[in-house]
Amino acid sequence: MKENILIDTHAHINSEKFDQERGKIITNAIENGIGGIINMGDTMESSQYVLELAQEYDICYAGVGVHPEEAFEMGKRDFDQLAIWAKNKKVVCIGEIGLDYYWEKDGEKRALQRRIFIQQLDLARQLNLPVCVHNRDAHGDTMEILKKEGRGIRGVMHCFSGSLEIARELVKMDWYIGVDGPLTFKNAAKLPEIVKEIPLERILVETDCPYMAPQPVRGKRNEPAYVRFVAEKLAELKGLDFETVQKQTTLNAISLYPRLEQG
Ligand SMILES: [Zn+2]
Repeated sequence: MKENILIDTHAHINSEKFDQERGKIITNAIENGIGGIINMGDTMESSQYVLELAQEYDICYAGVGVHPEEAFEMGKRDFDQLAIWAKNKKVVCIGEIGLDYYWEKDGEKRALQRRIFIQQLDLARQLNLPVCVHNRDAHGDTMEILKKEGRGIRGVMHCFSGSLEIARELVKMDWYIGVDGPLTFKNAAKLPEIVKEIPLERILVETDCPYMAPQPVRGKRNEPAYVRFVAEKLAELKGLDFETVQKQTTLNAISLYPRLEQG
């Protein structure tokens, strides 16, 4: 993989919002210097689909896993299936997995989220794959689980929304922090300050498209080409030129996800 490209490390171009336009979106990404798009599964069905996209398009890679908002009681068959998909070299991680207490208020369902999060961490360890973690309003439990159950696993806290303290803990664990559209928002709160404090070597850029469109396209449908706006903002905050940020964040992505170079 070349260094003069950007990688959108977290996307969902499998979304129905891209139906009929997927080819055009990918062409637009390539024309804007994007060299890799990692689409994250969030259900069993979408995990299969993001892998199909990865097989169809050179530029696409995949994460397979069950998202907390889609949590269900997973059985052996589900884990076996994830493991079969994960054998494919274009599957770079188990993801996206984690906890979402913003959308889920029910105590039992939160417990189910924690259970399948831990089970999928175990699967990642068995398969020797990194993980992509979704964490919304569940910072305490997410960090506790990662410390207890995440031994030997590397990963990224995607769409980072935690405190500087949590960011520093993740850096200590050799983890990465994923930043996307909110970094560019005028009301971005503490994220720009956190990004200034955290070494560039620990930051990944992502879109989370079709959601989270950055400035100057905020409110529109997001797409991988717009990861450039996130990288530009990161360069501005770090006082670095764009090329340095592009090169380093691409190296970071390859370091966390070695299959980007093998798949
Ligand atoms: Zn996502």
